Amino acid sequence: MSAARADLLDLEPERFAARLRDEGGRAYLTWDHDARRVVASAPWLDELASWLGADERDFHEHEGVFMAVGPETGALMTAVVHKTVRGQAAGGLRQWPYPRLEALIRDGLRLSLGMSRKNALAGLWWGGGKGVIARQRGDRHADPGYRRALYREYGAFTTSLRGVYVTAEDVGTRPEDLAAVFETTRFATCVPASVGGSGNPSPATAKGVVCAIEGALAHTSRGTIAGKTIAMQGAGNVASYMIGELLEREVGRVIATDICAARCEQVRDRFAHAGDRVEIRHAAPGDLAIFAEPCDVLAPNALGGVLGPETIPMIQAPIVCGAANNQLLDDRRDDRALAERGIIYVPDFVANRMGIVNCANEQYGNLPDDPAIERHFSRDWDNAVFVVTKRILARAEREQTTTSLAANALADEACRVPHPIWGHRSRTIIEGLLANTR
Ligand code: NAD
Repeated sequence: MSAARADLLDLEPERFAARLRDEGGRAYLTWDHDARRVVASAPWLDELASWLGADERDFHEHEGVFMAVGPETGALMTAVVHKTVRGQAAGGLRQWPYPRLEALIRDGLRLSLGMSRKNALAGLWWGGGKGVIARQRGDRHADPGYRRALYREYGAFTTSLRGVYVTAEDVGTRPEDLAAVFETTRFATCVPASVGGSGNPSPATAKGVVCAIEGALAHTSRGTIAGKTIAMQGAGNVASYMIGELLEREVGRVIATDICAARCEQVRDRFAHAGDRVEIRHAAPGDLAIFAEPCDVLAPNALGGVLGPETIPMIQAPIVCGAANNQLLDDRRDDRALAERGIIYVPDFVANRMGIVNCANEQYGNLPDDPAIERHFSRDWDNAVFVVTKRILARAEREQTTTSLAANALADEACRVPHPIWGHRSRTIIEGLLANTR
C-alpha cells in the first residue's frame, strides 16, 4: 500500500472534503473502457484511482465515482455510478456518518452494484447508482435550514453530472429533503406528490415483499399465506403495510418486534381489530429472539446485515423473505450458510424492488391503480415479483447454487442489455465530464 493511498482513504470525510475544496472542489474517478483502467480527474487523485482499479472486493468496473464539496455546507457529496448500459444510473441518496473515506466509497460501490441488479431484474430501463453524503459531525443534520441548504447543494451537484445519475430517497434522506433536491435538479425521482411525484413508496414495497413470500411458498409447495405464521424484525413503514396485506390474505398470525416503544404502540393501535392475530413486541436493541421464533416465514424488515453467523443458526423458518436492504452480513458467505441449513432465502433486492419501481417512471405520469405498477403484483406477467421469485428459486435448485448467486446471474444478464432507445449514452456523457475537469 502506498503512503498516498493510505493518506487519502484513511482521511475522515470532512478532512478529505477540506482537501478537495483546496483542489478545486471536484474529484472524478472514471472507468476508461478502452484502456480498461480507472482514470482520475487530477494527478493528486491518481493513487485513489490505482487503489480502486485494483480492488477485487467491491469494484466491478464501476463507470464513475464523482465527488464534490458543498459550497456552503462544506459537506462531502458523492454519486457512485455502477453501470449505465440500461440507462441513467438510478438509486437513492444516503446521508450517513462514515469514519473514513474508504468506508464511504465502499458503501457507494456496493450499493450502486445492488441498484444495477435490482433495477435490471425489475425490468426498469435504468442503470445502477447511489448517492452518498457524508453526514457532518455534530447535530447540524437535525436543523431544517441546514438540511435544505445541503440537499439543494446535492441537487446542483446532480445537475452538474448532466443526467448520468438520477437520485431518490434512501436512509438518512427524508421526503422533504427530496423536495429540496428537486429545487436544483430535474434528475430526481421519489419527489413529493405535490410536485407530481409518486410519494410514499412503502405500501408498494410492502405488497411486493408479500408477493415474493407467496412466490417462495408456491415454490416450496407450501400453499398460500392463509393460516401461516410470519415473524418480522421491525414494525416500521414497510412492515406495517405488510401486516395489512397479510391480514387481507388471511394470515394465521404475525409477530413483529421493534426497538421503538412508541412505534410498537402505534402499530398495536392500528391493528387492534385483528386481535391476537397480530402481536407487536417491544425488543431491546441487540435482542435477536425474533430470529428463533417458530414460524413459516421470517421477514427482516428493519436494517441490513442481520443474517450472519449469530442469527442463521437460530432461524426456525423454512423461508426468509423481507424488505430490508443488504440483509446478508457477508454476501460471499451467508447465503451459503442459509442454503446449508435448507432455508430458502429470497434475495432482498428481488423482494423489495417495488420501492424503486414505484418512483422509477414518475416522469411518464400516473394513473389510479397504475397498470405499470400493478402488473408487478400479478401472477401472469413474466416479470411480476411472484414469477421472478419462483424463477430464481428454481434456477438455484437446478444449478445447485445459492439463491443470491442465481439472482445475481439473472440480473447481470439483464444488466448487459443496452437501453432500447438511448443505448449506452451516459458513457459519452461521462467521458465529457472527465474531459471538462482536466
Ligand atoms: P422504517 O425506518 O420505517 O422501519 C424500520 C423499523 O425498524 C423502525 O421502526 C425501527 O425502529 C426498527 N428497528 C431498527 N432496528 C431494529 C432492531 N434491531 N430490531 C427491531 N426493530 C428495529 O423503514 P422502512 O421504510 O419500513 O424500511 C425498512 C427496511 O426496508 C429498510 O432496510 C429499508 O432500507 C428497506 N426498504 C424500504 C423501502 C421502502 O419503500 N420504504 C424500499 C426498499 C427497501
